[in-house]
Amino acid sequence: MSQAMNVYLSFDIEVWCNGWKDLDGQFPASFERYVYGRSQKGDYALPKTLEILERNGLKGVFFVEPLFAARFGIDKLAVIVDLIRAGGHDIQLHLHPEWSDELRPIPFPGAVKKRQHLSFYTLDEQIALIRLGLDLMAQVGVEGIRAFRAGSFASNADTYRALHVCGIDVDSSLNAVCADSGPDLRGQLDFTSPQDFEGVRILPMTVFQDGTGRQRPAQLGACSFAELRGALESAEKLGVEHFVLLSHNFEMLKQGRSEPDAIVVRRFEALCRYLASQRDRFTVSTMAMLPTSAPAQRAVSLPSAGLPATLWRHGEQLARRFLG
Ligand SMILES: [Zn+2]
Repeated sequence: MSQAMNVYLSFDIEVWCNGWKDLDGQFPASFERYVYGRSQKGDYALPKTLEILERNGLKGVFFVEPLFAARFGIDKLAVIVDLIRAGGHDIQLHLHPEWSDELRPIPFPGAVKKRQHLSFYTLDEQIALIRLGLDLMAQVGVEGIRAFRAGSFASNADTYRALHVCGIDVDSSLNAVCADSGPDLRGQLDFTSPQDFEGVRILPMTVFQDGTGRQRPAQLGACSFAELRGALESAEKLGVEHFVLLSHNFEMLKQGRSEPDAIVVRRFEALCRYLASQRDRFTVSTMAMLPTSAPAQRAVSLPSAGLPATLWRHGEQLARRFLG
């Protein structure tokens, strides 16, 4: 038996304001929803996420988006970071550069119109954005960031050059099933296996084949628990070393509301309970713990989940649509 597979419970942590109009008017309520997600049943954004991890003795990797704080204040970023840090979790960097033109002062001369994806920015602009992100995180006491995930997975080759310049040596931006991810790297890099590129170790988002043969990212809001368990067990059999799961601070909330989505909550509870009960097989890891010298690994095929697991998800999707 080879050593346990590393599983990363990664969370992209970000605040949105219902579009880009009336940002200042929208921000206070948006911040409350995205950070706390308060409801009569509990606070199902960050607090409940952290509570479930804690209860199961698991550590998450939190990719925190800090650019919004250059508009709304560093104290707001401190609130987010303090919540996560209290649980002893891994805090790394996430960037949504579509904030650039909303910041005052603008972070570089070209930030005068909105550009969503990091891949739309020059190398120098990407370096400026990553440095700004690191600086904002340092202002709230987060030092030693070594890992990165681009907003919307939209890294390109220059992103890796920029990360290397900024001293970040791990990236988890590549997503094989997201067309915006690595547009100039398709065919050049393997989007489903760990590898080194431009001095950066890339751990792509894990993608598996669902019961109908479709490729699917291992994302909490997009897969049934049975699919996630099936993919984890299949990956273990294939000898996969790193399995990267994705969620967000708002993924247990119903769309556009501050109410828990009971199906996703149950799914996250089940996933954490399962991982906690299988410690000999799966090591829930952080990016901070990743060895710098690990050899790159080539997977032979994608992990997969069975048809019943995928049909269960279809049932859940129907239920969520009807229950609203
Ligand atoms: Zn994001």
